[in-house]
Amino acid sequence: MTALARLPLPSRFARVRFGLLTVTALLAAGVLIASVLAAGYLNRIDEASRYNRTFDAGQTLAELLRLQIAFATANEATGIDGLRLRADIFKNRVSLLGSGTFPHPEMKGELYPRLVEAERQITTLLGEMPSDAAAAKAVAVLEPLVQPLARMTSRSHAMAGDNVAQTQTRLRNIFGALTGVTLILLLFGAALIAFVLRQNNRLDRTLRTDSLTGLANRLAFGTYLERQRIDRSRSMILVDVANFKALNDLHGHDFGDKVLRGIADCLSAAAPDASLIARIGGDEFAVLFEGVYARQRSLAACARIEEDMSRPVMADCGHIHVSVTIGFRALKASDAAHTAEMFLKEADLALHEGKSAGRGGVTEFRPAMMQAFLDRRRLQSELRGSAERGETYLEFQPVVDLRTHRTLGFEALLRWEHPELGLISPATFIPLAEESGLIQDMGRWVLSRAIEEAASWNADIFVAVNVSARQLADRGLVAFIAQALAAHRLPSERLEIEITETALVDNDGVAIETLQGLRALGCRIALDDFGTGYASLSYLQRFPFDKLKIDRSFVEGCRIDKNSSAIIAAVCDLASRLRLGIVAEGIETAEHRDFVAQAGCGLGQGYLFDRPLPVARVLERLAREASQPAGLSPTIANEAFRAECVA
Ligand code: C2E
Ligand code: MG
Ligand code: MG
Repeated sequence: MTALARLPLPSRFARVRFGLLTVTALLAAGVLIASVLAAGYLNRIDEASRYNRTFDAGQTLAELLRLQIAFATANEATGIDGLRLRADIFKNRVSLLGSGTFPHPEMKGELYPRLVEAERQITTLLGEMPSDAAAAKAVAVLEPLVQPLARMTSRSHAMAGDNVAQTQTRLRNIFGALTGVTLILLLFGAALIAFVLRQNNRLDRTLRTDSLTGLANRLAFGTYLERQRIDRSRSMILVDVANFKALNDLHGHDFGDKVLRGIADCLSAAAPDASLIARIGGDEFAVLFEGVYARQRSLAACARIEEDMSRPVMADCGHIHVSVTIGFRALKASDAAHTAEMFLKEADLALHEGKSAGRGGVTEFRPAMMQAFLDRRRLQSELRGSAERGETYLEFQPVVDLRTHRTLGFEALLRWEHPELGLISPATFIPLAEESGLIQDMGRWVLSRAIEEAASWNADIFVAVNVSARQLADRGLVAFIAQALAAHRLPSERLEIEITETALVDNDGVAIETLQGLRALGCRIALDDFGTGYASLSYLQRFPFDKLKIDRSFVEGCRIDKNSSAIIAAVCDLASRLRLGIVAEGIETAEHRDFVAQAGCGLGQGYLFDRPLPVARVLERLAREASQPAGLSPTIANEAFRAECVA
């Protein structure tokens, strides 16, 4: 039994249920009693019709008269045998009358003993027959009984009739009561049907309504879309709240609910002419327009939504700006071939495009988005088995000490050489692998290859491996890494795990558990692309990282953009206070290098030092460094090495 099933019913439902049960039980008891009574009365009538004691009294009278006549007409010639037979019959009738209940109660007290006495005297007189005197005496014995027996017979006859009439009246009453109960049952059934239909309607409304916002929910939206008229213009707006999970995590679920309700109000105000407004996901809303100017109307609504959403929402800690991304798809009446599914998919692709570009705002569907989606789907299916087909391999990019310019470690970067499309960027295929869950196997392959490779480097340098959100949700990851480290005899301190902030946003509970397991193993944990996420600082507070990697977008703009340089300086300061290692990514020029070094950055990574290298080049680089005299500037050496590579 689920916990939900054990919850008590709301009191209103409990009362209705109790009432229904009581009325049903009372009606059932009433029907049962009426049926038993009716059966009893029917029995009585049946008995009355089959066998009647009044008939016994009548027969006794008849036999008495016959016996009297027999005595009156008895003589020498008729003999005594006929008389004896009549007397026996009379005797039998009297004893039958005496057995069981009397046909009339008064018969028992006086008449019956007189009949018995007459019968006794007749028996005696029979012994004296044939004798005229005995015959006359017998007639005289019987004569006084004729009148009372006739009276009693007619009275008992009347009494039996009364009995039957009374039973019939009772039976009629019972049938009346049964008809009443049946009518009540019918009324009750009708009320029950009305009640059930009402509850059904309510349930249906509840099933189709989003309880938080009062808008239609995904089910209602899907049904509406399926039944929508396709022979006229239609437009669909999809609205998604940016970083909703982080908003919930940082400001609490009450605030998240407030934001969702606020958006529902905003949509209702911005699209009063919409056919349907629905909440179709946790933080996703849909607005449908139909009929003339559907596209123009939806565009106007988008503008109003954007304007409304530019106003901040009040939270405990002050005003928060909530931004939304909007995707929309407008169809003309001539696009009738579009199914509901295609319509929604295209609006969703527009939304997806807006979200992945990270620009927010309003994005309208373009056919190129569908092509890109189909390409992504093709890549996703071909990604499966790419490692087995030998299409994937690792490259390693050095991470150097900015003071001594020596290689301290390498970041392992996955490569996919597609047989037709050539080299595909991990920025393209990693998200596909994450979406399909393939990242679990792929990530394990990268980890064991990187560990194996690092174990072959004849130097005490680390290997950094990127691990994505879905991998951190894998509870077997820590054991797998421990096994791989042991198998290749690589000390755990030489393995660094790089995670991005989204890994923590998406599944922080299990992710932090996995990271703690890895730390307990002795591995180091770096926070990659620091500063690009939504809540970088709050994650630093929640998990003790070993290293921060400043995203290359800040390094890129450090010389021209004052903000970027201020951010780099502040992050370096923060890292030194928190005693964290800090790596600047994307160092492409000597200017970048000098700037980040001056800001206090200890480590660097970028094309200035080396691009990601194939395995053979890694060994060459390590061998070259090992053979270099300690005084030689490794930067010059690297530059010389790069020139050599280019040549
Ligand atoms: P990332 O972890 O931030 O890796 C650094 C990226 O910056 C690499 O791109 C690298 O080639 C590039 N890069 C390095 N130095 C420079 C530079 O000076 N200038 C410029 N413009 N770029 C530079 P890549 O190899 O294309 O990887 C992109 C992202 O894909 C990585 O970003 C990482 O998030 C992800 N990735 C790569 N391999 C794996 C993997 O095995 N597992 C997972 N989960 N993600 C991976
Ligand atoms: Mg990385
Ligand atoms: Mg990075």
